[in-house]
Amino acid sequence: MCIFCEIIKGNIPSKKIYEDDQVVAILDISQATLGHTLVMPKNHYANLYEIDDNTLSHLIKVTKMIAKHYKEVDPTIEGINLLNNNEEAAGQSVMHYHMHILPRRKNDDLLIQFKEHQYDLDDICNKLKIKA
Ligand code: 5GP
Ligand code: ZN
Repeated sequence: MCIFCEIIKGNIPSKKIYEDDQVVAILDISQATLGHTLVMPKNHYANLYEIDDNTLSHLIKVTKMIAKHYKEVDPTIEGINLLNNNEEAAGQSVMHYHMHILPRRKNDDLLIQFKEHQYDLDDICNKLKIKA
């Protein structure tokens, strides 16, 4: 059973922000920041690798529309983070693709921290670059 599929079917209640034929946006039950929202496809795709490209591009457009709408209706929002976790090692806990929208305010307590590492950039680039 997928909890987000159950939410989409209406079998589990949720606070719906937006819905169309392809995607649904709901408030995250745990509200990491005020207004924390999840945008998900109505069809079940486990993660970024599986989601169909047309659905993904529509979902990104809807995410942008919601982000701009939030800033319009709530002047306390000073910034917005988008976050999409793929697989357990990356922090994914619900295996139905979703994009987090995290409204930010200067004194909120969300911590997203990048630590610097002294890795060899030439090595990494050689390993990871993509030939067109
Ligand atoms: P992930 O860790 O997979 O990127 O994010 C899953 C998110 O789903 C979490 O932030 C969690 O709070 C949220 N979540 C889990 N179960 C429910 C639920 O039943 N309803 C809602 N609205 N959010 C949920
Ligand atoms: Zn699902």
